[in-house]
Amino acid sequence: MSKPFIAKVPYEASHPTGLAVYCSDGRFTNAVEELARHLGHERIDTLTIPGGPGLLNRWSADYLESDMITRAANFLIRGHHIQEVFLLAHAGCGYYQTRHGALGAEFVAEQQLKDLQAAAEELRKTHPGLTVHTYFVRPQGTKITFEPLS
Ligand SMILES: [Zn+2]
Repeated sequence: MSKPFIAKVPYEASHPTGLAVYCSDGRFTNAVEELARHLGHERIDTLTIPGGPGLLNRWSADYLESDMITRAANFLIRGHHIQEVFLLAHAGCGYYQTRHGALGAEFVAEQQLKDLQAAAEELRKTHPGLTVHTYFVRPQGTKITFEPLS
């Protein structure tokens, strides 16, 4: 039997109070955690799926996908007493390319912003008192920029 690996990061029994909903795309994972730390969240719950918060917009996403991620988000927000949610869409998202790519980059970016807005509205409506932040994430050279949306 091989030896177990023991992480240096300690286990903390309390749940984080922040939840980030974003794309599975691993090029952004560390940066999203860094943003969360910058905003005072040492640890976060995460809900990652290709397309991220775009799937929370039941008007544009596939019904079953949308239903699943909406239930998952509601479960985490209620069960883990989440107070702050970060919804992040990123430039060059493969999910959006596959789904809407034929309609051009401008259409895709617009759809991403619409989806972020719809997702934020839906969460705010379902969970009064919840703070929801939306960001468009853009790689620029070797930097990753988070543009907050109003
Ligand atoms: Zn993506």
